[in-house]
Amino acid sequence: MVVTQRQSEEEDQKEAMVGKCEKCRREMIRHEYYAGPQGAVDYDPERWGRSDDLIPQFPTLMGSMEYAEIRNSEEGRVCKECGHVNNLLDTNIWGWPRAVEQTRRVNAAHRAIVQAAAQADAKIAEEAAE
Ligand SMILES: [Zn+2]
Repeated sequence: MVVTQRQSEEEDQKEAMVGKCEKCRREMIRHEYYAGPQGAVDYDPERWGRSDDLIPQFPTLMGSMEYAEIRNSEEGRVCKECGHVNNLLDTNIWGWPRAVEQTRRVNAAHRAIVQAAAQADAKIAEEAAE
């Protein structure tokens, strides 16, 4: 895998993951996405999470995970040029799914704590009124 990076000086931070055939080296997949961070013009809080998430998903991790899902699908593994069935991309060494899932769990736990605190506050207020 080759990583090429260029920081955009304009508003949009477009990124792409490109997969090439292991046998003929032709481009098989090009997955493009906007990876502007939270607060950037092109950042969409609903794209990979919820607007009330305590910890926003890191767009590059989500885009990379989407690429891996496409690349590891049955259709995504077969080269349209030479028919070679490419090996599965090992996402464990990159850690994208793990990082995305951990962020989801942190956000779900945060919402559960906020909800439990609101219920406890309501119960305390209810008991005080009795
Ligand atoms: Zn090929």
